[in-house]
Amino acid sequence: MIQAFIKNNYEIVDFNEKADIYIINTCTVTNMSDRKSRQILRQAKKTNKNSIVVAVGCYVQVAKEEVEKIPEIDLILGTNEKIDIVKHVQDFINEKKNIKIDNVMDNKTYGDFGSVTYTEKTRAVIKVQDGCDRFCTYCVIPYARGRVRSRKPENIIEEIKTISKNGIKEVVITGIHVASYGKDFSFKYELIDLLEEINKIDGIKRIRLGSLEPLLITNEFVSRLVKLEKICHHFHLSLQSGCTSTLKRMNRRYTIEQFESIVNILRQSYEDVILTTDIIVGFPDETDEEFDLTYNFLKKIKFYKMHIFKYSPRKGTVAANMKNQISGNVKEERSKKLLELSDINENEFLDNYIGKDVEVLFEEKDGDYYKGHTQNYIMVKVKYDDNLENQIRNVKVIGKENLSLIAEISNHNN
Ligand code: SF4
Repeated sequence: MIQAFIKNNYEIVDFNEKADIYIINTCTVTNMSDRKSRQILRQAKKTNKNSIVVAVGCYVQVAKEEVEKIPEIDLILGTNEKIDIVKHVQDFINEKKNIKIDNVMDNKTYGDFGSVTYTEKTRAVIKVQDGCDRFCTYCVIPYARGRVRSRKPENIIEEIKTISKNGIKEVVITGIHVASYGKDFSFKYELIDLLEEINKIDGIKRIRLGSLEPLLITNEFVSRLVKLEKICHHFHLSLQSGCTSTLKRMNRRYTIEQFESIVNILRQSYEDVILTTDIIVGFPDETDEEFDLTYNFLKKIKFYKMHIFKYSPRKGTVAANMKNQISGNVKEERSKKLLELSDINENEFLDNYIGKDVEVLFEEKDGDYYKGHTQNYIMVKVKYDDNLENQIRNVKVIGKENLSLIAEISNHNN
């Protein structure tokens, strides 16, 4: 949306500055996201009471009645309207036309903004699909984003070619349910076909995959994936629970045994693979025994990092109406236990890297250090006088500090 405004000669300023128009891209993934969306909408009007405040996106899509009650908002737009954001704002200025929220489920094609990817200095986030058909019982996303719609491969490839010419070395492939990429095409073309094409693009050195549905990882998929030398050996597999009956209530479609064999496929295929995950604690009816099963499974699998979410009921989802909702204290306790486990694993993992040589793509200066990531996504910091930004260098790990590796540039860099 920022790029769409730039194309139309608008000037973009920092959110904290006084602006004429504020576009708030709201989120609804948790109760906290709803609250933050409301706070930011109000804050915008406080910064400039004469501004036009536009609420767009997922929270608006699923909670229209709530949003309409917020007096600070001038223009309300649903998820489908992002693609025409500039036109809607201009219409509002000219004709005061307000509120446009279509049924997101009716949307059958990917709303492609064109070549307007968000880029950091070294890395570009490439969204390849929108929507999800899985309907996990806790998740509001399908109601906010609609059905699976995939972006045309030729548009994705063209965009990556353009950004690689601008010096970007790493792309992150994301979407709402990336594993479903291509499912809606009338021809057979899947995520792995797309990755094979991206791997051929000159200038791109690393392809990172965003959060993945575990069931995507099969022997067949990985046998093609390992041939792609640019794929980063970091996989974020959203497990959500380490107890099969909890998974069933969540409508996740795998058992913990299946998940374990998926992990084994990756560990056998990539020696230096790093696995991270998301876990929900306190899902309705999660007993102490079920939580213990999760804890023990996580201890066994040993993820490098775990993102722990305390379950929060989302209106309109199946789980919000389930009996035996878990109390806040119990969720807190379970979350604390898993965060402790995550820290232990992360420290152990990093200790194993001390003394090793790794390759780092440096991103930016941070205090005295240049920081960047290994291809398997460990943060590395190096003290260095010359500019290292957007350079790939070999470094020797000499220690660790605050869950980052500290390293020095190896002598054999060219
Ligand atoms: S697969 Fe992901 S996005 Fe889709 S419903 Fe489940 S949690 Fe939500």
